[in-house]
Amino acid sequence: MIAKCEECDADITVPDDAIVGEIVQCKECSSEYEVVSIGDGKVELKPAEVAEEDWGE
Ligand SMILES: [Zn+2]
Repeated sequence: MIAKCEECDADITVPDDAIVGEIVQCKECSSEYEVVSIGDGKVELKPAEVAEEDWGE
């Protein structure tokens, strides 16, 4: 399955056996995306949250 990177418009290859919640990375710009839905040979991604930002004050 192929998805588009929102950052650089490159194709991101998502394995056919990927699951919702899996993190994939753009090979071009290293942006990380979380798989939010899979169906009918299409995959939908959203930018992965970077948890570190919530740490401490
Ligand atoms: Zn990219």
